[in-house]
Amino acid sequence: MMKLAEEHGTEACISKTPSFEYWDELPSKAKIESMSGYLEDFEMLSVTDIPEGCQFGVSFTTITVNAPRYIQYLYRLLQNQYGVQFVREKLPSIKAAFSDISTKVVFNCTGNGARRLPGVEDAKSYPTRGQILLTRAPQITKNVMRHGKDYETYIIPRPQSNGNVILGGYMQKGVGTGDTFSSESESIVERTTTLLPELLTPGMEVLAAFSGLRPSREGGARVERTSIQLDESRNGILVHNYGAGGTGFQAGLGMARDAVSAVEDVLRSIPREKSRL
Ligand SMILES: Cc1cc2nc3c(=O)[nH]c(=O)nc-3n(C[C@H](O)[C@H](O)[C@H](O)COP(=O)(O)OP(=O)(O)OC[C@H]3O[C@@H](n4cnc5c(N)ncnc54)[C@H](O)[C@@H]3O)c2cc1C
Repeated sequence: MMKLAEEHGTEACISKTPSFEYWDELPSKAKIESMSGYLEDFEMLSVTDIPEGCQFGVSFTTITVNAPRYIQYLYRLLQNQYGVQFVREKLPSIKAAFSDISTKVVFNCTGNGARRLPGVEDAKSYPTRGQILLTRAPQITKNVMRHGKDYETYIIPRPQSNGNVILGGYMQKGVGTGDTFSSESESIVERTTTLLPELLTPGMEVLAAFSGLRPSREGGARVERTSIQLDESRNGILVHNYGAGGTGFQAGLGMARDAVSAVEDVLRSIPREKSRL
């Protein structure tokens, strides 16, 4: 993702962004060591540089994704450069994905659908509801997050968006409603403006409230090659790739690579059409 931000950041609508993250309770030593190992420009902040009530804070550089436009970028890339054909259809079961006899491999990326989709029915899958506000506050150019015992507050400027900033949020395990609530929007405004008062100077415009369901899974994401019996004489190769929770944008590229490597042997045996690259 860092490479993509450096080489194609403008078209992909992702950019490197300075970030500040604070915790109300000290994170574990293992977590701090892990962060210091992979985050660019990682620094631990002194007590005088972190908000009141927090025990720990760090600064680093990370990538920020304009999610709707990044998805459109991937769609155009796959369609125009790799000749991928898109079909929109609701499948009654995972077996239905093998209805074309020439299908060699199916990747199951059904997110929250994995809990009920016949043939998958993963009881470990559950939604984690979030609510966010889309705002306009062009003065904000850094990410700020605060992790509390029972809340998550974050401010994320959207790249290539004419000053849009995402304010959040909520992490409601097992809650499956897509409704938005005004009480939650008010709490988000109160928490984010306290954490980053620059939101109020010269001011911000709240454009919309959204809620969404993160496709979570007990034990983490499932990226796994399996075999599925289709009828008495035929088995299908099924690669599961779901359960990214709240990390689908940051981890999706790596998960896709792992899913594809799991069937490298099968893919190598499929004759390829001439690449359009
Ligand atoms: C509030 C909120 C905050 C988030 N914050 C972050 C963040 O900070 N960082 C980050 O990286 N990500 C974040 N995300 C992204 C999110 O958490 C997911 O990781 C991401 O959307 C996962 O994508 P996915 O493709 O696995 O699943 P989904 O986006 O749920 O896609 C699954 C697809 O499968 C389709 N499907 C399911 N069943 C069937 C069927 N029977 N037939 C046909 N199609 C089917 C669905 O229609 C859907 O299109 C956030 C999401 C929310 C809601």
